[in-house]
Amino acid sequence: MIKANDPTLKSWVEVPKNSDFPIQNLPYGVFKTDYLEPVAGVAIGEYIIDMVYLNEHGYLDGLGLPIGIFNQRYLNDFISLGKPITNAVRERLSELLRHDNSQLRDNKKDRELALIHMDDAKMLVPVRIGDYTDFYSSEQHAYNVGSMFRDPENALLPNWKHLPVAYHGRASSIIPTKVPIIRPKGQTKGPDEAAPSFGPTKRLDFELEMAFIAAGKTEMGENITTADAEDHIFGFVVFNDWSARDIQAWEYVPLGPFLAKNFASSISPWIVTIEALDPFRVAGPQQDPKVLPYLEYEGNHHFDVNLEVDIKPENADALTVSRSNFQHMYWNPCQQLAHHTVNGCNINVGDVFASGTISGSSPDSYGSMLELSWMGTKSITMKDGSERKFINDQDSVIMRGFAEKDGLRIGFGEVETKVLPSL
Ligand code: MN
Repeated sequence: MIKANDPTLKSWVEVPKNSDFPIQNLPYGVFKTDYLEPVAGVAIGEYIIDMVYLNEHGYLDGLGLPIGIFNQRYLNDFISLGKPITNAVRERLSELLRHDNSQLRDNKKDRELALIHMDDAKMLVPVRIGDYTDFYSSEQHAYNVGSMFRDPENALLPNWKHLPVAYHGRASSIIPTKVPIIRPKGQTKGPDEAAPSFGPTKRLDFELEMAFIAAGKTEMGENITTADAEDHIFGFVVFNDWSARDIQAWEYVPLGPFLAKNFASSISPWIVTIEALDPFRVAGPQQDPKVLPYLEYEGNHHFDVNLEVDIKPENADALTVSRSNFQHMYWNPCQQLAHHTVNGCNINVGDVFASGTISGSSPDSYGSMLELSWMGTKSITMKDGSERKFINDQDSVIMRGFAEKDGLRIGFGEVETKVLPSL
């Protein structure tokens, strides 16, 4: 077992019950405060450890860290140091924060300067994202969408169980938590309308996804095998891939979604390392038909991570509208990465690979309003009595993820986005 994952470890930093950030997690992010430029941080309890401070005051000595590695707007250079170093940093933090380690605990000045309360910080997008790929790897989601738009008898297209279907998304519009989006406008055309019209989308939707952040860079022509894939995965985030369903329905044939998707995606602030998720591995589904050899894999590469979506109207309490789980994936991240590079496509540190909407088998576990409202034929009643088929102006959508087992909870925190009216 990885020592930092030992469920019996306790920290001298107070960690509230049900916190997403116990000493066994130690996820990485980038934050700023009123007096600090953006720097790298690690979450524990309700605090952020200022990694620049620790590195400059000797607490990380001997790990081969360049000066200034954390004093940067993005984590890409840190991730590029490679897993032996990034994992050693997590182990060192785990030691420094242990209840019986006095080194930082009993140095009042360092402790006060190195630990920043989360309420005093603003979280940013943690990596410089060169490329963003969105998969379509939940069978229930693909089945639901295929049933709605085509035919329940032939819901999955013939390629779906032979390769992890994906498209290339837009990296420039990936935003951090608490940054609002503006309702997009575009062309739409209903089936009974003679010509398209233009205006704000009437079917703004979320997509409940997780995404992994790439660790190693590869050159063009190289392939990543399923066996090596996890060496290229730094960690995971929760990902809200905003969608405009009416724009999508009119534009998506034959090259797939474009303006229905590229206006925004919201990313959760903390990258939970794949090492911290190790205790939550589960087996994937039996894949039938048998996949081609380059997509075969050994071991467990699915993860049991609970996922939730809340809708919060402007002046009402939030309602949880979906409870899903990251394990509801037909294709796992190793298969996705092997497929993505099998043609020699290169990847770069910080690239984002999203799972696609993750829907479970029960209707309350569907990962989009498209499915929860079954294409607008059903509505969900909010706590203030108002109804939703899609997302209204001034609504906030909040997604969270957490893995939980034997009293250990490894969480991702939240990604929250408010919708503002079209300009
Ligand atoms: Mn998506």
